[in-house]
Amino acid sequence: AAPSDWERIPKVAPHNGTKTVLLTGAAGFIGSHVAEGLLARGDTVILVDEVNDYYDVRIKESNLQLLQETFGSARLRIYRGDLANASFISRVFAREKPEWVCHLAARAGVRPSIQNPYVYLNSNIVGTMRLLELSRIYNIQNFVFASSSSVYGGSQSTLFSEDERVDRPISPYAATKKSCELMAYTYHHLYGLPVTALRFFTVYGPRGRPDMAPFKFVDRVSRGLPLQQFGDGSSSRDYTYISDIVDGVVRAIDRPYDYQILNLGKGSGTKLIEFIKLVQKYTGKNATIQYLPDQAGDVPYTCADVRKAEHFLGYKPKVSFEEGIRLTVEWFSKTYVPQQSVKKETKRSSPKTASK
Ligand code: NAD
Repeated sequence: AAPSDWERIPKVAPHNGTKTVLLTGAAGFIGSHVAEGLLARGDTVILVDEVNDYYDVRIKESNLQLLQETFGSARLRIYRGDLANASFISRVFAREKPEWVCHLAARAGVRPSIQNPYVYLNSNIVGTMRLLELSRIYNIQNFVFASSSSVYGGSQSTLFSEDERVDRPISPYAATKKSCELMAYTYHHLYGLPVTALRFFTVYGPRGRPDMAPFKFVDRVSRGLPLQQFGDGSSSRDYTYISDIVDGVVRAIDRPYDYQILNLGKGSGTKLIEFIKLVQKYTGKNATIQYLPDQAGDVPYTCADVRKAEHFLGYKPKVSFEEGIRLTVEWFSKTYVPQQSVKKETKRSSPKTASK
């Protein structure tokens, strides 16, 4: 068969040397890990986050505290504010004059986007638009941003590939991510801004988002609380461990291509029932399951074709799902105060302290 167009594009050698990276969303789950990765190798991070209350703000504050305690303030500057606010984000660029942008801030989550579509429109589309415009003005060397596997929405494929035409988003969240890919392409086309859109596939691990299944399942099974299982358990997802995502993001920052969309996943799916079995194995507890119907906007199946990311970035996911769940349970039990035989629903305690 004829090679895909991307197989004919020469690979870009990594840009070595330290960078000043404007990193948005870095009080959040993925962003805080990417910040650690960049700071650990000597980059300067201009961190932008509004620290919103989409989930427990104490988690985000603890992520920021961990970064400050570990790396100090010489190469880490924190700006709290809304990206979509033009005067705020313009001031950050004017003051810091970053050369690289890694844009991970967004309102995430499929179901809440159905309830609050305007919040998603503002943060995700207007926020990204502001950054693209400033990236054009400041001649940014590479604009890397978080898209999502949710753009594959109603896809019938068994392996989601970037070459597939995706224009049927099934939630406002997915539609905002697809819109950002389109607007970023326009900025590349008009102004030559190098852009890489990374489609993340369900990311989990230490400091994971409490609204997502991996955290919820570990939390609830550990505390003896019932799990809500949407659908019959046959739905399958490609779960990607956080360290693999950080590796992919950092590789993408270092390699300015023209305009690329790349999947960052593990490259294989896990069924919900298998997932629950692993959580039981590593927490050492049996799950009580509450069965609920499928949710509107949820994608029943995801599986990433990661060959393109491997070709352009040398990306190779390393952590198996079983190992990832083991590490997540280990982190969870160290971070949250253990509670035994909980009789009725109680609030989860806040993280003890920021923990690696
Ligand atoms: P997160 O909610 O933990 O982090 C997002 C951060 O962005 C938060 O700290 C939030 O305060 C900040 N933010 C949101 N809107 C903002 C705004 N208007 N101005 C400034 N800051 C703002 O989410 P995450 O899981 O770390 O996701 C990071 C990125 O990856 C997001 O773009 C998300 O859509 C994308 N993504 C995540 C996953 C996943 O499985 N976690 C999957 C696909 C895509």
